[in-house]
Amino acid sequence: MRIDIISPLPELVESTFKTSILKRAIEKKIVKIQCHDLRNYSSNKKKQIDDYSYGGGGGMVLMVEPISKCIEKLKNEREYDAVIFMTPDGEKLNQKISNRISQFKNIIILCGRYEGVDQRVRDIFINMEISIGDFVLSGGELAALVLCDSVIRLKPGVMSNSSCALSDSFQDNLLSAPIYTRPENFKGHKVPKILLSGNEKKISLWREQQSVNRTKKLRPDLLDKE
Ligand code: SAM
Repeated sequence: MRIDIISPLPELVESTFKTSILKRAIEKKIVKIQCHDLRNYSSNKKKQIDDYSYGGGGGMVLMVEPISKCIEKLKNEREYDAVIFMTPDGEKLNQKISNRISQFKNIIILCGRYEGVDQRVRDIFINMEISIGDFVLSGGELAALVLCDSVIRLKPGVMSNSSCALSDSFQDNLLSAPIYTRPENFKGHKVPKILLSGNEKKISLWREQQSVNRTKKLRPDLLDKE
């Protein structure tokens, strides 16, 4: 999978791909990440990428030209399954969307900044708009990282135990069961006996039950979803 990230602040994104699971995914060539500095696509000597908003109002707007130059260059090089804009008014990210995107071959992720991007960028180039929640960040970079992380960990070979991602919360609309590691007894708080029994069938049943109970208690809305 190839992910092209367009941003006015690519350094904010790049550092995250140098650690942990994301770094391993890149080293194993499961995913290729390419960050593009929007300023390199400005035709302006001062590398200007933003301008005042027509009609007034505070705040700057990312201009259509540099973004269009960058996206068009990329689209001339290969086909993309999705050109995604990270935006608070987009579809709220969930596991289903991450699962779907993890099947794509090439995607572009555009990060906004300031007041956002010129509407014409969205009208012309964007075919998926994603929000990471009902709150406003200063820029799309952290949101893009959230999306990338949730997608990349689903790719076969990224996690050391590939079944891990499938037992995560939200797969099958259920939260995960409680988990424990050593010590068996921490200040009187003991690990449930069933987990020490070695009986795989019973453990799996217990986990299933715990998942359902937890979901009923914490996120009953998930149980009504298709
Ligand atoms: N004026 C915009 C509005 O009210 O919708 C907010 C602009 S925000 C300060 C700047 C950029 O941060 C957005 O263009 C978007 O790329 C990103 N952003 C902010 N909050 C986000 C969220 N919840 N999910 C995804 N991206 C977000």
